[in-house]
Amino acid sequence: MATIADPDLRFTSLPHPTPTSAEARDAALADPGFGKVFSDHMVVIEWDEGRGWHDATIGPRVPIALDPAAAVLHYAQEIFEGLKAYRQQDGGLALFRPSANAARFNQSAERLAMPALPPALFIESIRQLVAADRDWFPDVEGGSLYLRPFMIATEAFLGVRPAKQYKFLVIASPAGNYFKSGAPAVSIWVSEYTRAAPGGTGAAKCGGNYAASLVPQAEAIARGHDQVVFLDAAEHKWIEELGGMNLYFAFADGSLITPPLTGTILPGITRDSIMQLAREEGLEVREERYSLDQWRDDAASGRLVETFACGTAAVVTPVGKVCGRDGEFTVGSGGPGQLTQRLKARLVAIQRGEAADEHGWVMRLD
Ligand SMILES: *Cc1c(COP(=O)(O)O)cnc(C)c1O
Repeated sequence: MATIADPDLRFTSLPHPTPTSAEARDAALADPGFGKVFSDHMVVIEWDEGRGWHDATIGPRVPIALDPAAAVLHYAQEIFEGLKAYRQQDGGLALFRPSANAARFNQSAERLAMPALPPALFIESIRQLVAADRDWFPDVEGGSLYLRPFMIATEAFLGVRPAKQYKFLVIASPAGNYFKSGAPAVSIWVSEYTRAAPGGTGAAKCGGNYAASLVPQAEAIARGHDQVVFLDAAEHKWIEELGGMNLYFAFADGSLITPPLTGTILPGITRDSIMQLAREEGLEVREERYSLDQWRDDAASGRLVETFACGTAAVVTPVGKVCGRDGEFTVGSGGPGQLTQRLKARLVAIQRGEAADEHGWVMRLD
C-alpha cells in the first residue's frame, strides 16, 4: 500500500479471484494489436461533493455497476487520457511525460465541469496499475502498455447540471507496433464535417468529441482513405487536425508549421515534444494557421516537402495523399519523408531510454 500526496488516501488492494493464466496471457500478448487486449487489474477512485476523492482501490478489472440515470450515460460528462509505459534498455518500464497528461486531464475536467484530480494521485494510480500488471507488457517489437485513465459522472440525476459524484478509473491495454514494418504514409480525406467550433470542447479530451468524429472517419474509410482531416468550423478553410492526431507541415527551407492552439485543437503532448526537438535541431517552428488551398499549392510547387500527423498511439505518421471534394494531391514523394522519419526516431529513442533524456520527460516506474 503506497502513500500518495494526500496522506489520507491509500490504495486498497483487492485480490483477483481468477487471474488470467500465464498461457492465456502469453497467447494474447503475441499479437496484441491496439485496444483489444486488456490486463487483469484496474484502479478506481470515487469522488463525492463534500468528501472529495476517496476509496482508492487497485483490484480486478471487472464491469462497473452504474445507475441507468448516471449522468455520463445521458449528458456525456466524460474525459480521458492516453499514455504508454515503454520498456527501457535495462528491462525496466517508464512513462513519457505523465505530468503533462495529468495537467491536461485537469484542463479537460475544468471544461467538462468535473472535479480536478491531484496530479500526484493521477500518476500514483498509473504506478499502481503498472506494478500490478507488469506481466502484461508485450515484448513484441515496438510494443508498449497503453494506459487509459478516465473519469465519468456517476450521479443518478437527469437534471442538467454538473454531477455531484464521479469515478476515476485507469485500465491498461497491451499494444503492438501501430504499424508493423515502419510507418506507411496515410491517405487522408478532407471532411465537410467539423470537429470543434470556437468556444466548444475541441481542446478537451472528452469522449463526446470522438462520438462526433465517427461519421466523418467512417466516410473517409468508405472513400478508401485512412484518416479524416478537419478544417475550422467558422471559415472551413484552415487546417485543424486529424480525428486523434495533430499535424505538422515541413517546408523545403527547413521550417515547420503546426496549427496554433486556439481552443479548437487538442494540445497534443507529442505535438509539443516534436516542437521542442525540432527547435533544438535549429529548425524554425511556427504555430500558424495554414489553409487547405495553401497546402495544395505548396505541395504542387515543391515549397512543402512533408506533412506528418503525431499522437501517442502511432507517434508520428507521414501523410502521403490528401483528397477532398475538389480533388486530390500528393505530398512530397507520397511516402515517408526524411524529417518525419528523423523526428520520429529521435522521439522513440528517448521514450525507450535509448537516447539521453535531456528534458526530464522520462519517468521510471521501478
Ligand atoms: C489525444 C489526442 C491527440 C494527441 O495527443 P497526444 O498527447 O500527442 O497523444 C490529438 N488530437 C486529439 C483529438 C486527441 O484526442
